[in-house]
Amino acid sequence: MDDCLFCKIVKGEIPTDRVYEDETTLAFRDINPQAPHHILVIPKEHYQGIHDVPTEKADILGSLFVAVGKVVKELALTDDGYRLVVNSGKNANQIVPHIHVHIFGGRSMTWPPG
Ligand code: AMP
Ligand code: ZN
Repeated sequence: MDDCLFCKIVKGEIPTDRVYEDETTLAFRDINPQAPHHILVIPKEHYQGIHDVPTEKADILGSLFVAVGKVVKELALTDDGYRLVVNSGKNANQIVPHIHVHIFGGRSMTWPPG
């Protein structure tokens, strides 16, 4: 989508600190980190929410979470743990309408989330 921030990042029109990339998925550091490690993992194809991905495109979601696994291993977050968050829609404060998995790591976190 032309006016989508994360589609612009995929196209290289906006610079980011990329930590992982493959054919379908991109991971980069959040510009406003909320933890020592705060990474966003996105499918390169534009969908607003997980619920918008059609069954025949389910591979996109599989690849997304395989990439998450690679990133947390690469950043050595698996021993101490990490949190994944996918905000969806206004009640969850989704600001960027392009699926993204937040990875938070490097500090302990509280539960329940706000
Ligand atoms: P959400 O509220 O789940 O939609 O989160 C969107 C995230 O995108 C926020 O954590 C922002 O800090 C992050 N963000 C916005 N613009 C950029 C950018 N240019 N590069 C990296 N992260 C960004
Ligand atoms: Zn997009």
